[in-house]
Amino acid sequence: MSHVVIVGGGFAGVWAAVAAARVRGGLRITLITPGDDMVLRPRLYEPDPERAALPLRAVLAPIGVHHLRATVEAIDVEARVVHADGAAVGYDRLVLAAGSRLVRPEVPGARRLFDVDTIEGARRLAAHLKGRRDVTSVVVGAGFTGLEIAAELAARGRVVLVEQAEVVGPDLGSGPRPAIEQALDDLGVERRLRTTLAAVEDGAAVLSDGTRIPSDTVVWAAGMRASSLTAQIPGRRDALGRLEVDARMRVTGDVFAAGDVAAARFDAEHRVVQSCQHATPMGKTAGHNAAADLLGLPPIDFDPAPYVTDLDLGAAGAVYTRGWEREVAFTGTRAKEIKQWIMERIHPPVDDVRQLLALAGQVNLPVPF
Ligand SMILES: Cc1cc2nc3c(=O)[nH]c(=O)nc-3n(C[C@H](O)[C@H](O)[C@H](O)COP(=O)(O)OP(=O)(O)OC[C@H]3O[C@@H](n4cnc5c(N)ncnc54)[C@H](O)[C@@H]3O)c2cc1C
Repeated sequence: MSHVVIVGGGFAGVWAAVAAARVRGGLRITLITPGDDMVLRPRLYEPDPERAALPLRAVLAPIGVHHLRATVEAIDVEARVVHADGAAVGYDRLVLAAGSRLVRPEVPGARRLFDVDTIEGARRLAAHLKGRRDVTSVVVGAGFTGLEIAAELAARGRVVLVEQAEVVGPDLGSGPRPAIEQALDDLGVERRLRTTLAAVEDGAAVLSDGTRIPSDTVVWAAGMRASSLTAQIPGRRDALGRLEVDARMRVTGDVFAAGDVAAARFDAEHRVVQSCQHATPMGKTAGHNAAADLLGLPPIDFDPAPYVTDLDLGAAGAVYTRGWEREVAFTGTRAKEIKQWIMERIHPPVDDVRQLLALAGQVNLPVPF
């Protein structure tokens, strides 16, 4: 029986598994990931990290996908084998969906840093903050994640947001910036621009300009990089370590890639961004094509929905933008309602197999706002 192996149990891996199961035709499908849960990373800035965990068995068991709890250490493309916790697993088609990780800085005291990159990191931060008020937090990195966690932490006390660029949200462009600045002002979030972190002491953050901020809550939120497994696949990689894929998510030969490990073209001008918004349709495309390739069925092309962003700004609401120019469509309460709607929608349905399989067939699912 031909074997589709998927590495990773996040958005891209899970949706690749569901899409492959939808095509099926007598294929064996195995998803390899170390944890029992699918972790919905976009929810990890929320106060309760447990809301970001969904048991993988609830999705995979009803559709007959085998879950191998293991970490892949090596991929042998010539032999068509992955090595996971010492076991060799052969494949006929491989979907690499091992995601990304925050790159931690090499500064003195870096082990004291908190993060909301993994569920373990978010749990550690939640336990540290439990029952506390008047906490001074330092958040390093004013990109999407840094802004969300800074706005959330503002409910607990003073927040200092540190950013090496000249502006907050440097990659978000000028469209939403006035709304973001206004929200940070409303929340009382202080900004230190053109500045970075020099060291984390016991009870203080030391900034590159020499300022020492008393704080036992220093959160690192700058810099993501694709899984290092990408280096084991022959192919071109971009500055984030992502593999170049074609419109069918194929890297080379029998290997497909999806999600934060893949630099697919969104359109003639843009590559996808590392986001669940893109990981989900990429996973569906890769899973379908890996299975269809083995069964001699027609492939599908990656067809993403129009690009939107919705940045949670805590008690100040949110800012929702449309398009790559990030034109602001909604702010405040309305944008926050849409964010909450999105956060619910990113959970794959677990109580309705037909709906799950039907969703896998809908690659282009726009947010209807
Ligand atoms: C705080 C935060 C907020 C975010 N907010 C948003 C947002 O609002 N909107 C948005 O679109 N995106 C957001 N993102 C980004 C989004 O979460 C990621 O782009 C998305 O999770 C990528 O999905 P993925 O499946 O490619 O990878 P991941 O979700 O990273 O999943 C990777 C999977 O691979 C597994 N894995 C890794 N290495 C191995 C290995 N060696 N062997 C086996 N398994 C392995 C992991 O355990 C995991 O199951 C946010 C991220 C964070 C951290």
